[in-house]
Amino acid sequence: MFKVGADLVSARAYRILGKPYGASPPTHFPQGEPSPMITRFDRVIVDLPTPKNPNPNAASLVQELLGGKFGEMSTLMNYTFQSMNFRGKDQAQAKPFYDLISTIAQEEHGHIEAVTFTINLLLSGASVRGTDPTTSPLSVAEQSRNSHHFIASGQTALPMDSMGRPWTGDNVFSSGNLKLDLLHNFFLECGARANKIRVYETTDDPTVRAMVGYLLVRGGVHVVAYARALEVLTGADLGKLFPIPDISNKQFPEAKVLEDQGLHRILFRNDSPDFDRVAEVFKGKHPEDGSDLVVEDGKPQTFPTPILPAEPQLTAPGFGPIDEAMLAEIAKRLG
Ligand code: MN
Ligand code: MN
Repeated sequence: MFKVGADLVSARAYRILGKPYGASPPTHFPQGEPSPMITRFDRVIVDLPTPKNPNPNAASLVQELLGGKFGEMSTLMNYTFQSMNFRGKDQAQAKPFYDLISTIAQEEHGHIEAVTFTINLLLSGASVRGTDPTTSPLSVAEQSRNSHHFIASGQTALPMDSMGRPWTGDNVFSSGNLKLDLLHNFFLECGARANKIRVYETTDDPTVRAMVGYLLVRGGVHVVAYARALEVLTGADLGKLFPIPDISNKQFPEAKVLEDQGLHRILFRNDSPDFDRVAEVFKGKHPEDGSDLVVEDGKPQTFPTPILPAEPQLTAPGFGPIDEAMLAEIAKRLG
């Protein structure tokens, strides 16, 4: 199986690149070929400011937006499974809905990154940096809600909710019935919106507020997208339900500045030519401000990923200063 695949790639690569690969088989697809790999960039979708101060308890609250029932891991996995499980996309009337779910799935991975970096920034510097374990450098863990941040990770995010419950596949709904799945997705995005608003209300930390403000806007696009999909599919008028909960994104300054730029009415298609019928569903007017909904080829703006400093007291990553006493001891034993 592998050999056949490798030969095929090799022949294609030879043709496209005009050069042989020699004895070792190529392990990548030729440039320009669509690849079934997720393409990652060392960039993040939100311009995250540095937190005012380390805040492990805020980090534990933000975990809800990552690994909670309505968190970004759930949206990614719901839309990913629903798109791979989609039956009948060869039927002309079904394809635009398949394209919509697949397109939204792509964006959710970027949201996982934004929430995770927020948690990691809040945890950076939360315990005392140093290499002497007798000073109890991790004592802050005794007062912190999520002890796994200190014991099971290098003061970083984990796939769990704000109560420390691991994310589970029970959070995925993929019934195979399009109307039911779209209804679920509309509900999921509204529930996610409620959770984001409540996390925003817990803290004035600028990093959390920047991240939540951005995700309120983008999640709002997904609420509109699934509502419009149900309207196109059934003729129901879901515009009357907006907004759920009953508070406008424009009341959040970090969201308002992005909506003033129009980010609440754009669905990014990520340059993929394969999902070309999205605009047959994502169309018309925004139900709240009447602006035009648009599908844009391309990616949203991105920013460099934050650098997380080493935490030597956790041996994270473990390239700490050389322990001279240990080296002397080893040298003595080696004679
Ligand atoms: Mn999201
Ligand atoms: Mn979403």
